[in-house]
Amino acid sequence: MNKRRLALHGGPKVKTSPFGTGKRFGVEEEKELMEALEQNTLFYHHGKKVKQFLRDFNKLYGVKYSVATSSGTAAIHVALGAAGVSVGDEVITSPITDQGTIIGILYQNAIPVFADVDPHTYNMDPQSIESRITSRTKAILVVHLAGNPCDMDPIMEIARKHHLKVIEDCAQSYLSRYKGRLVGTIGDYGCFSTNDFKHISTGDGGIVTVNSGDEEEYRVVHAFADKNYQRFAGQVQRDLSYLAPNYRMTELQGAVGVAQLRKLPWICERRHQYGERLSKGIRGLPGVQAPRVYEGGWSSYWFYMFRLDLSALSCSREEFSRALAAEGIPNQPGYIPEVIYLQPLFQKRQAYLNSHFPFDLSDVAYPRGLCPTAEQILQTSIRVGISEFFSEQDIEEMIEAVGKVASWYAH
Ligand SMILES: *Cc1c(COP(=O)(O)O)cnc(C)c1O
Repeated sequence: MNKRRLALHGGPKVKTSPFGTGKRFGVEEEKELMEALEQNTLFYHHGKKVKQFLRDFNKLYGVKYSVATSSGTAAIHVALGAAGVSVGDEVITSPITDQGTIIGILYQNAIPVFADVDPHTYNMDPQSIESRITSRTKAILVVHLAGNPCDMDPIMEIARKHHLKVIEDCAQSYLSRYKGRLVGTIGDYGCFSTNDFKHISTGDGGIVTVNSGDEEEYRVVHAFADKNYQRFAGQVQRDLSYLAPNYRMTELQGAVGVAQLRKLPWICERRHQYGERLSKGIRGLPGVQAPRVYEGGWSSYWFYMFRLDLSALSCSREEFSRALAAEGIPNQPGYIPEVIYLQPLFQKRQAYLNSHFPFDLSDVAYPRGLCPTAEQILQTSIRVGISEFFSEQDIEEMIEAVGKVASWYAH
């Protein structure tokens, strides 16, 4: 391959025009917000917007019941709490994720256990999940990372065999499909986030689906997001038989959510096309490994992360990242700095200030090397943004820049 002088070394840069941008919120959101205010209440149970948001979401997803929450972290906590995950239970999850995935586990005083991931999809490896199961395991909390669906058939089979609940963290994976089924509808609960960085935004917010379609279970989930108030049959019961937080969504969030949901299919379709184009464009470049999607999977690419095979390149990951940035392509080395179990919380076994509870109930350990593939992924990957507002030219220039940098450093 011919080598062109890198912008990092004073050569001309690949991308000189700005990336496409756009407005996420417009008159549609404004209209819904005004209607919410005119209701004279912003409380979800008295207003119509959160209810409408959930009705639309249920229709889009083909589920009977879901509950709105104040965040994605809250949605996951609600699913865990309603599933009965409690003191000393173990929950198996991914070490490459947002900390919102593990917060609810620890608030239930349960113990996060980490399974290793696949080197190319970055999603939890079913074999590793099964190897982590003990008599204390209560649930598997899968994370569909960056829009990419997990390999759900073997995971569901393992869960059934061991009588475990399956909670799907879909915060980054709107409308992603696995063998034709939407992720979030395959396990017992699907958890979504509408924080400002996700495919759709209500500022903050979240949703939990109740996939059994069982009304009794729906009531438990609903009450767990609302201080255990039971707001059914026109009457309120204040049941305090166990602890449940207040994670309610307001009418303002619900109103914006109604308008945002209408844009969601277009957003996911564009991101899917751009992600697939990037993979096609960089596959086969020296030292570059495009991410993979499982057979039968459909990704809505929340971000795009590829890996470097450093043995085929004469640079470090950080040099590659800087060279790519100099070509006009903003990027980050990896996703989170380290796998989540190397964070001080796990290393010091300190979920609560001045306490080692619940870790002192357990001999689960978090040494470096626990999930070697996950650790390697975060040390060898480059993450670039994808936006539905990018143009096709933006994507072609991203491909060209990655190719230019890879060719320069190829042995
Ligand atoms: C964003 C995110 C969360 C948490 O969502 P919040 O709404 O920020 O609380 C959880 N898991 C993953 C994988 C996320 O990306």
